[in-house]
Amino acid sequence: MTLILGLEGTAWNLSVALVDESDVLSEAVSTYQPKYGGIHPREAAQHHATEIKAVISRVFHKAQETNPEFSLGQIDGVAFSQGPGMGPCLRTVATAARALALALKRPLLGVNHCIAHIEVGRWQCKTNDPVVLYVSGANSQVLAYRAGHYRIFGETLDIGIGNALDKFARHLGLSHPGGPKIEALALQGTSYLELPYVVKGMDLSFSGLTTAAKETYDKMPGARADICYSFQETAFAMLTEVTERTMGHLGKDEVLLAGGVGANQRLQQMLQMMCEDRGGRFFVPAKKFLGDNGIMIAYLGLLMLTSGSITPIEQSQVRPNYRPDDVEVTWRE
Ligand code: AMP
Ligand code: MG
Repeated sequence: MTLILGLEGTAWNLSVALVDESDVLSEAVSTYQPKYGGIHPREAAQHHATEIKAVISRVFHKAQETNPEFSLGQIDGVAFSQGPGMGPCLRTVATAARALALALKRPLLGVNHCIAHIEVGRWQCKTNDPVVLYVSGANSQVLAYRAGHYRIFGETLDIGIGNALDKFARHLGLSHPGGPKIEALALQGTSYLELPYVVKGMDLSFSGLTTAAKETYDKMPGARADICYSFQETAFAMLTEVTERTMGHLGKDEVLLAGGVGANQRLQQMLQMMCEDRGGRFFVPAKKFLGDNGIMIAYLGLLMLTSGSITPIEQSQVRPNYRPDDVEVTWRE
């Protein structure tokens, strides 16, 4: 058995977990909640710095509760999110990871956060070679594995879909995170209002849609639920279109949904319908694996360690713009 400690802290969620090949031993989370507005990178980093010691202690205590034999010496490696993410947050968590790896005398594993989302989904859903729709706060990408890399087949040209939802929600006076609140309001919407549907080739744009939704709300505040409904219908149809086209191009018949926005039931439903129409299969892991979590970081660290991809300390500097297609995938055929 290989046991990995994983540290996630790319944005507002600080999350630590212990994972082996078959199971999650323990996990602990502490989430930064902005007092107003969106995530402030330095405040989030300050939150992580203040909380990280307690969160790591909780993970070790919980591991001891489930398995009284557990000791720190059993940890085989320390994984952390090297990027992409907010610089100050990444640096805080990377510093803790380096210190732990040195103290435990174990290898360090610098993980690409996007690929961790993908691999935890493949692990949980037992899908082998899916087209992945990765939708989170900052990211919106359609990816698939080809010849040693996860290639990006389509992505947002401006903001991520989660950010778009959060910005629009803030305009409605709703607190962060806005995605679930928009989802709840959308359920009360009944009529579709035209909003910009922007797919350019295989890429997407959400900022025009967000601005148009805000302007529509300013003109018709009474239509709040209809605008939320129309926002979701438009944005999710765009994402579903690019996902379907990627399946067609590559001849793949499975879709895996990843990232925090993946919790949205309407998005899941659209992808499910699209897959059924094509005779394909749709997969989505349990909610706790969708948003940012330490489990996925530990799990990808495990795949990296067992396939020989360790990160020397000298190469462990954070990478706020780390692209998933930069990663050489050593753990797949
Ligand atoms: P992540 O960056 O992967 O942790 O995802 C966070 C993003 O997911 C935030 O932008 C949230 O607003 C969004 N989100 C979470 N739950 C939902 C939901 N049910 N519907 C839409 N967006 C959601
Ligand atoms: Mg994420």
